[in-house]
Amino acid sequence: MKFAVALCLLLCAIGVMTLSLPGAVEEEQKSRAEREKEKELPDNFGAEKRSDEAEFKRGDDEMEFKRASEEECEATITKWTDDTVYYAYCSAAMKNKYSLEAFAQVSSILDGILTFKDVTKDDYDCTNNADREHYIAVVDNGKSEGCWSYVGMLSGEKQTLNLQTGKCTSVYVIIHEIFHALGLLHTQQRPDSPQYITVNTQNIKDGKEGNFAMKESMCTTCKYQTCSLMHYGRTFFSKGGETITPLDPDMGPDQGKQNQVQAGDLCAIYLLYDAREKETCKEVDGDGNDYCLWGTGNAYNFKCCRCPDHFTGDNCGTFDENAVSDNSGEKHEVTQGGAPVTVTSPNNAAGSSYLPSTKKTYFISAPTNCNVQMSADFISVENDASCYWDQLRYWSGESILDCPETICGEYTDVTYTSKSNFFMLEFNSDDMYNEKGFIMSFEAVNCT
Ligand SMILES: [Zn+2]
Repeated sequence: MKFAVALCLLLCAIGVMTLSLPGAVEEEQKSRAEREKEKELPDNFGAEKRSDEAEFKRGDDEMEFKRASEEECEATITKWTDDTVYYAYCSAAMKNKYSLEAFAQVSSILDGILTFKDVTKDDYDCTNNADREHYIAVVDNGKSEGCWSYVGMLSGEKQTLNLQTGKCTSVYVIIHEIFHALGLLHTQQRPDSPQYITVNTQNIKDGKEGNFAMKESMCTTCKYQTCSLMHYGRTFFSKGGETITPLDPDMGPDQGKQNQVQAGDLCAIYLLYDAREKETCKEVDGDGNDYCLWGTGNAYNFKCCRCPDHFTGDNCGTFDENAVSDNSGEKHEVTQGGAPVTVTSPNNAAGSSYLPSTKKTYFISAPTNCNVQMSADFISVENDASCYWDQLRYWSGESILDCPETICGEYTDVTYTSKSNFFMLEFNSDDMYNEKGFIMSFEAVNCT
């Protein structure tokens, strides 16, 4: 199963909108019944990771990428006036748990940057607009329309955000479409994308090349993340084979499982909407510079308006297990030669299976001159090809801004060493099929 894919339309006029025809969604989330059919075991966790490194080739450093200045980039995108986004559901069916959750999440994570106003009428009428500001009309234009949105704010009464019934049932696909409506293009269209990915043009479905076409005007200020919610996966719009191949397997392990808003996505929106000028940002970062840019920095050296879950303090550099409303975090330190630290999945009282609808984050750090090694006798998480239902995400790269790896399925005798002095693990389960979970132990290794 692949992630449902949206087609966006590119708005390339200044002041005047240009229209193109929307494309169709390609693939869709499988039904719950289909989950049972797909219990193939994945490759052994982490085992191949290191051996790939020898063959890894970075993008050609000598290539020159035309980079627009920060002032110039995104100049072709029309932003929402007064930082206010109006939207309305144009039928009762459109106001469903997926779209409600998507707008609620976007509204929450962009709090202080943009204001979202639901202007749905009691009878869902989207024909009489005399009393409404320009708004996003959430509609279903019928079969074959798929999930799509225009890019940026159009002129006129309203603009369509199409969610084909039965097709657009992923909250993250809908958030992807809302981000288009706010003005984001696809990450793989950035002019610096050849440093990170190869687009296999010969594998792209006819007529879909535009979704992959580079846009020289796009900003490259924010970190390029192949796991961005706005980045296509490996086989999106494929007529056979991969359409996108990451150059560094460690930079794109999660590509194709874009079911999380990443720091780079928020950074792009913050940049577009001048978040650094807003009062809400100044409370967090008092140095007067570099708001919201997520510089490359050290392991977790954010510079941002809004810290990711559990991160607080200067530059969001501190992991606080209690820094989200449900206090669903654990923080541990391991020391050189010290006793290992053990963590377990949030399981039922008998310990035989993990709890449903549960999220928990674990952060393990070692002294700065060490790496963190994780060992587990078993890992058992409901399996499906995209790890959509339940999943373990772990960040073990040099920066918390590196894309996480996402896994599910059954693994035994796992050992994995982080590239930095931290290892962050995020566990998510949905409301059914709860497997055994995991017990992991951590220790500090490779101390210099
Ligand atoms: Zn899109």
